[in-house]
Amino acid sequence: MSYVERVLDDLKKRNPNEKEFHQAATEILLTLEPVISAHPEYEKAALLERFTEPERVVMFRVAWVDDNGNVQVNKGYRVQFNSAIGPYKGGLRFHPSVNLSVIKFLGLEQILKNSLTGLPIGGGKGGSDFDPKGKSDREIMAFCQSFMTELYRHIGADTDVPAGDIGVGAREVGYLFGQYKRIRNEHVGVLTGRGLSYGGSLMRKEATGYGLIYMTNEAMKQRGYDFKDKTTVVSGSGNVAIYACEKAQQMGAKVVAMCDSNGYIYDENGIDLAVVKQIKEVERGRIKEYANRVNGAKYNEGCKGIWSIPCDVALPCATQNEIDGESAAMLVKNGVKYVGEGANMPSTLEAIEIFQKASDVVFLPAKAANAGGVATSALEMAQSSGRLFWSAEEVDNKLKTIMVNIYHNIDNAAKKYGFAGNYVMGANIAGFEKVAEAMMAHGIV
Ligand code: NDP
Repeated sequence: MSYVERVLDDLKKRNPNEKEFHQAATEILLTLEPVISAHPEYEKAALLERFTEPERVVMFRVAWVDDNGNVQVNKGYRVQFNSAIGPYKGGLRFHPSVNLSVIKFLGLEQILKNSLTGLPIGGGKGGSDFDPKGKSDREIMAFCQSFMTELYRHIGADTDVPAGDIGVGAREVGYLFGQYKRIRNEHVGVLTGRGLSYGGSLMRKEATGYGLIYMTNEAMKQRGYDFKDKTTVVSGSGNVAIYACEKAQQMGAKVVAMCDSNGYIYDENGIDLAVVKQIKEVERGRIKEYANRVNGAKYNEGCKGIWSIPCDVALPCATQNEIDGESAAMLVKNGVKYVGEGANMPSTLEAIEIFQKASDVVFLPAKAANAGGVATSALEMAQSSGRLFWSAEEVDNKLKTIMVNIYHNIDNAAKKYGFAGNYVMGANIAGFEKVAEAMMAHGIV
């Protein structure tokens, strides 16, 4: 058994019932074999054992009172996974599916993603099994205040800087920040994704979706291809999906489908994004509404069917494991050429294998392709520390440069180890090399 296999085996035994964490660790560690072989000193230093064990896990009770006067209790989490290259950084997810395994998988991915940005940020992730759907504003505020009343003692502008993720947008970040400031009496960059009136950065909202398109476009450019008139499917209709759709459309793509967790819409004339924004960002409604408002658009119950729509470019931007082997095979059969992951781990291991075996499909994995969000969060941290406020153009240009650089770094890393075009390996290796070097420099900690 190789060192990598032994670490994976131990990890599964020591962390039973954490299937998402096992999946992410398997996907990452198996691709690191060539780096591990080149560095025998890593095994002696138990580097992989330390890399896969969070530095700290905080789990806590979140009690709050709903609008009927009933006391509700949720679980809160913050996994401070790795601070070798900078303070922990990673979003908070509020969704009923959240558990320790999900937060650990996201945290592990985040370490490498943050490293890929080239900026000094470590990896962390947190959240709660709280479901914001259908809650009143007052209930959301009560929950966020209770959550922060515990979290505040574990985070800080130079220690751990959370941000949004599924279910945590500008409103939630505002309530969380308000409570932090009230308890600590400090107006500092302790959360990113803040509103523009209290320390946020222009372009943060757009960053993940735009970044995904900048990277996909760079991969296309290298192959003499572009977004013009390319039929594109974007899953989700949240923050990442909306701004991926917006930038893809600006580059000439024809986006024909989007979804939410109930079903998907198909609009052969191209999605009218203003209608989606009105339904999702303003009314917080269901995507189904789109078909009632736009002539010719169709709504289908269930999300899986979205991947049966023939397209040139597929951009999964909803949630983990939304593309399984069957959907991946369908996309390939229908001629997909580019798959860019906007969501975290949206493709199962089986789906990734299918994309990689199809020689004419370019597969851009999440930790590289969706790094634009956290990169812009790091730019928000830089502005906070320097008491600066950069223009949208300045932030957008920096984002573009970062995404183009990440693409070439993962491309070069894949080539360096003899796996040209394998961006899963390229991203894992390029992200890991820097973290490994820093961990080795710090000694056994
Ligand atoms: P949002 O909460 O804004 O949107 C999530 C979208 O995905 C919603 O449309 C939601 O539908 C849909 N969705 C959720 N679960 C499912 C499901 N089981 N099947 C189909 N659709 C589903 O989240 P974000 O856009 O912020 O995040 C989306 C993904 O991108 C996540 O994986 C997140 O971790 C990742 N990500 C986000 C970043 C960011 O900056 N926001 C940065 C990097 C990664 P519904 O409205 O019905 O819930």
